[in-house]
Amino acid sequence: MKVGIIGGGVIGLSSAYYLQKSGHEVTIIDQGDLSEGCSYGNAGMIVPSHFIPLAAPGMIAKGIRWMFNSSSPFYVKPRFDLDLLKWGYQFYKNSNQDHVRNSAIALKEISLLSKAMYQQLNKDLLFDFGYCERGLMMLYKTKEAEHEEKETAAMASEYGIEARILTPEEVQQLEPEVKVSVRGGIYFPGDAHLTPNALMKGLREYLKERIHFLTNTKVTDFEFENKKIKNIQTDKGEFAFDTIVIACGSWSGLVTKKLNLNLPMQAGKGYSFTLPDVIKNIHIPSILLEGRVAVTPMGNSLRFGGTMEITGIDHSINMNRVKGIINTISDFYPEMKVKIPPSEKIWHGLRPCSPDGMPYIGRSKKIENLVLATGHSMLGVSLAPGTGKLISEIINEEKISTDMKMLDPERFHR
Ligand SMILES: Cc1cc2nc3c(=O)[nH]c(=O)nc-3n(C[C@H](O)[C@H](O)[C@H](O)COP(=O)(O)OP(=O)(O)OC[C@H]3O[C@@H](n4cnc5c(N)ncnc54)[C@H](O)[C@@H]3O)c2cc1C
Repeated sequence: MKVGIIGGGVIGLSSAYYLQKSGHEVTIIDQGDLSEGCSYGNAGMIVPSHFIPLAAPGMIAKGIRWMFNSSSPFYVKPRFDLDLLKWGYQFYKNSNQDHVRNSAIALKEISLLSKAMYQQLNKDLLFDFGYCERGLMMLYKTKEAEHEEKETAAMASEYGIEARILTPEEVQQLEPEVKVSVRGGIYFPGDAHLTPNALMKGLREYLKERIHFLTNTKVTDFEFENKKIKNIQTDKGEFAFDTIVIACGSWSGLVTKKLNLNLPMQAGKGYSFTLPDVIKNIHIPSILLEGRVAVTPMGNSLRFGGTMEITGIDHSINMNRVKGIINTISDFYPEMKVKIPPSEKIWHGLRPCSPDGMPYIGRSKKIENLVLATGHSMLGVSLAPGTGKLISEIINEEKISTDMKMLDPERFHR
């Protein structure tokens, strides 16, 4: 079958990987040159421990509190935009315990599938992408965060995900080279991490021999015939495929408008910067909870990532929020002296956020030859090979590895 994938981020490349393995003739179309974007400078965490969707009880109240602090980790740019209003309403409607319970199992299943796929890729692919199974620590300084994390740990145990509650001394023992100042932490030994830039570069090189790439080619519209997409129209001409996969990340909502599909999506901007050649490095990837800062060792380097700004497709760097990341680092690692990097050293990426915190994965019921793979928000790297495997199972009409109900791409049509 000729399969066209729109979008060459980690989700597009992973889908291409499994599809070409099944014998399909695959083409990736991307508006960029596949050298940057959300899938490159992220924190690289593989996190089956993150089974609670973004839309969860308490998130609205927390979000409102954070909105009034210019260096906080979360911000929604107030603007009159019907798509944002609808997205906000859906987020509000889904921020409840029932939604968390229903989503948690689906997220856990696809996460565990994805981790198993990474273990396999680490054996099969002949390049090193820094895959490492050292777990993840969720570190906290306040009673409020401790309470929330202990609840998550209890829920994790219920779902069969190992979680250990750590005292400050136990945290320090796991982190022998860097002084850590915390009230405590939760350790998830089943989590892992990788170096996203290495994964992306390696996958691109591997696929270059096996699939077609149409880079610097922007998809602008579609031509239909009998409930099917007949042609993809781009700024470089028209292309026809038997099946089309939409993996356009934060742009997926805009692209699917051309297909008359309702796929609520907002870009959640985040920043990262990476310290090279760190002598006394962090050993275990951690999330510094009160500041929502992700800390990942990548070889001798150390990457810090954070913030979620819902500001539309916007590539500006807000230095106040970068300062917020720096302040959190010195609160948690008081002896680590990290200076604010110049803006050109700060990477940013746009996370594709659905309003219920669940990805959109599945075949369209309205358009017969369309499959969607997007909306992974903070978990795109973590869920990428699992998503790619599911996409190949869907297109091959094989038995699907997980329950897809919560991932239905047309769930907001009802
Ligand atoms: C600071 C930060 C830290 C993060 N940390 C983690 C982490 O630790 N673990 C984790 O799992 N996730 C993490 N994430 C999230 C993760 O990076 C994303 O979920 C993931 O990269 C999304 O991948 P994607 O392929 O869906 O989208 P993208 O990587 O954005 O790819 C979409 C592609 O579609 C192309 N495209 C869009 N529109 C068109 C069009 N019209 N025509 C042609 N091409 C088009 C774009 O050019 C782009 O290349 C983090 C994100 C940020 C910002």
